[in-house]
Amino acid sequence: MTELRLGVIGGGQLARMMTPPAINLGINIKVLAEAEGSSAALATTQVGDYNQLSVVREFAKTVDVITFDHEHVPLAVLEALEAEGVSVQPPSKALAFAQNKLSMRKRLGALGMPMPDWAEIQDAATLSAFIEAHDGVAILKTPIGGYDGKGVRVVRSAEDAADWLANLANFGGSLLAEEKVDFVRELAQLSARRPSGEFLAWPLVETQQENGVCSVVLAPAPEVSKATLDTTAEIAKAVAEGLGVTGVLSVEMFEARDGRILINELAMRPHNSGHFSIEGSVTSQFEQHIRAVLDLPLGSTQPHAKHAVMVNLLGVDDKNDFIQAYGSALAAHPEAKVHTYGKSARAGRKMGHVTVIGDSAAHALAEAKGAAAVLLRG
Ligand code: ADP
Repeated sequence: MTELRLGVIGGGQLARMMTPPAINLGINIKVLAEAEGSSAALATTQVGDYNQLSVVREFAKTVDVITFDHEHVPLAVLEALEAEGVSVQPPSKALAFAQNKLSMRKRLGALGMPMPDWAEIQDAATLSAFIEAHDGVAILKTPIGGYDGKGVRVVRSAEDAADWLANLANFGGSLLAEEKVDFVRELAQLSARRPSGEFLAWPLVETQQENGVCSVVLAPAPEVSKATLDTTAEIAKAVAEGLGVTGVLSVEMFEARDGRILINELAMRPHNSGHFSIEGSVTSQFEQHIRAVLDLPLGSTQPHAKHAVMVNLLGVDDKNDFIQAYGSALAAHPEAKVHTYGKSARAGRKMGHVTVIGDSAAHALAEAKGAAAVLLRG
């Protein structure tokens, strides 16, 4: 019998959540995890260092397509595999723009995409001039290695970045300065694209962050104008096609107070902004990612209900024990769909999420938050 074998690099919660749809579709999923006991350990898991070409090459020999749970695999490793004929999805030429925020800004600029004003920073004088030209404040980012707000700083003078400027080599030689956008909210447009070209998007969502970490997602985003819906849909398609992205793409955007839609970030894999789709959509982002990277026809992205609300379970301290709290949380919130990632507890860590779908966004939000509160605080 024919077999389809998917290899996922990275053993986090995204690889974990790819497992149920892979099982349903009869796809043999294998994970290359960083360590024993990863979130994805319930799948067939091999432990190894994704920075080493020899390790990834051996792993690639056991599967038909390589995809990712995170974007940290060195481009040189992926380029070597591609040269040897391995199918890497998304390909290294696309992933390069998710790995480096400065390359992303340059490429999106060339495509004419709307973004916050930005500049490449290699010295204090250029940063001071940028801050001065933007009303005395800027957002400064490390182009590589940042996540969940780490590597993002508000700066009002070059001294605020003295430590980063003194260690530029750690960040690929440059920093990225951006205009501090006065936004009314953050939006995300999730989509998927196959190597052979088929493209499909989900409804636009609103994302809310707490200390730089996503905490709530409202699907669909409430009260969005037709113009914004058209713009965000066009942006997602232009980015996916322009950058040659395959699999799931999340384009994170700001809705500025002056009405502009500006691209913040790109994720080329299932993303927190799309967790709602597990219960909220005919096809979840995890199933769609698998279908897309294997170049299988995409599934419907139609919603199952008028609203889906997702609330992240962000660790309160190192004592959180969800299983202990299941009795009370599940009894009090029978509509809540609870997902926990099998991670050890730590303050602020993404340890799971809760989704509620239904006719009322307010009710879904209250139920999801209620369940999350019981799970986190017992
Ligand atoms: P990460 O890669 O860590 O997720 P982001 O670039 O998404 O970092 O930034 C994290 C958060 O910081 C964003 O969700 C947003 O709330 C805020 N932020 C980032 N860039 C800007 C900007 N140019 N203007 C205003 N706020 C910003």
